[in-house]
Amino acid sequence: MGNPEHLFYKWGGGMDPDFPRIRRAYDEFLVTEDGRELVDAAAGAAVVNLGHSVPGVADVAGGQLDEVSYLSLSHFSHDAPEELAESLATAAPGDLNAAFFVNSGSEANEMAFKLARTYHRETGNPHKNTIIGRWQSYHGATLGALSATGNTTRRSEYEPMLHGWPHVPPAYPYRWSYDGTREEQAIAAARELETTIKQEGPETVAAFVAEPVSGASIPAAHPHPAYYEEIRRICDEYDVLFIADEVMTGFGRTGPMFAMERFDVVPDMMTLGKGLSGGYAPISATLVRDDVAAEFENGSGQSFAHGHTFGGNPLSAAIAAHVVDQYTDAVLETGRQRGEQLVSELASLREHPIVGDVRHAGAMIGIEFVADRDTKTPFDPDLNVNKRVYDRALEQGVYTYPGSGSVDGIAGDHLMLTPPLTISEESIERVADAVIDAVEHVAETVA
Ligand code: PLP
Repeated sequence: MGNPEHLFYKWGGGMDPDFPRIRRAYDEFLVTEDGRELVDAAAGAAVVNLGHSVPGVADVAGGQLDEVSYLSLSHFSHDAPEELAESLATAAPGDLNAAFFVNSGSEANEMAFKLARTYHRETGNPHKNTIIGRWQSYHGATLGALSATGNTTRRSEYEPMLHGWPHVPPAYPYRWSYDGTREEQAIAAARELETTIKQEGPETVAAFVAEPVSGASIPAAHPHPAYYEEIRRICDEYDVLFIADEVMTGFGRTGPMFAMERFDVVPDMMTLGKGLSGGYAPISATLVRDDVAAEFENGSGQSFAHGHTFGGNPLSAAIAAHVVDQYTDAVLETGRQRGEQLVSELASLREHPIVGDVRHAGAMIGIEFVADRDTKTPFDPDLNVNKRVYDRALEQGVYTYPGSGSVDGIAGDHLMLTPPLTISEESIERVADAVIDAVEHVAETVA
């Protein structure tokens, strides 16, 4: 047996190095080596949207491996990625009909950024290369994706290696200080993008990237729909491509199949990962609108110089095609109901002295902790409030997704809950009980 100390993935972000060892997983449960059954209220990291027992995956995987295990998509094609591309085009809003396959959410965003640059070169704008992101966002760990990322905690160590791309404030109604109605505030927030495009020079800006509903950095934060309508107007006016990063929000997580459907706005590109294979294989995708894709087909003939050895891998693509078929209307409806049930069972937390905000979109719930509810002052990061809530909930048998806002005090500690859409009502009760207990327990120690 190998020495677990040699496993380099114990990066942990401050988590306990003695992670529980998991022997097996089924439905919404993780079973530890010592026989404890934990409820996976995080669905991995919002990955296992259908739970850990998706029927038919093993047969699909076996069948694919018997047929063809690997092909380079630079020179060949085959059924699995073609079928997957077709079903994503059918599922995606508007004319997001072209799909490129890579292996992770980070790579899908890298791909989108490069596609944006090449699209603009093809359309006669070779200087449009800047990507604008938002503060308190997460788009991935690779250097391009991290450059667009606005989560300062995740950026700080690698800051000297990142592009100097600008960021606009997040879509974070809880901490907005704009005047007016929710709609007016949303429009004011969106106009920060217009200001930044003008400051940078529109002739240099290639794309704006945003999580439609924020994920790991400020979980479940989302604006009034007027925000994305205004973003769409601004992007059209300045010839800036709008990339919706749906790596976490895709596949029913926030209610509809894709979070942009909540806002009725079609982006120019959409990046997908996580729930695309439900965790059964590494695969991600960049979906592109017809008019953008057409520039590659009808353009100068200069090839799009980008690819990954395992992009569109037959095994991953076949599994993903099977998994995507399982996101039926009934499954999405169950996810919405379980999300509603969970927020209503957590209702008492809305008045809790250390809770500033409880927000949700479908089956994505964010609980933000504050030292002072009136001033919304975050806790001192050294108190590790999010980790302590996480630890206590885990002791009670519930796995959650903790996070801290930032090193610069823009946001508070928080806990994200993203259970499988298929979780049972009984397990939702277990999750709510454990989280309430954990918050009360930690509140006693920080009061
Ligand atoms: N984009 C979003 C919104 C994410 O939440 C994540 C990961 O959590 C990523 C991109 C990066 O995906 P990956 O970890 O698969 O590279």
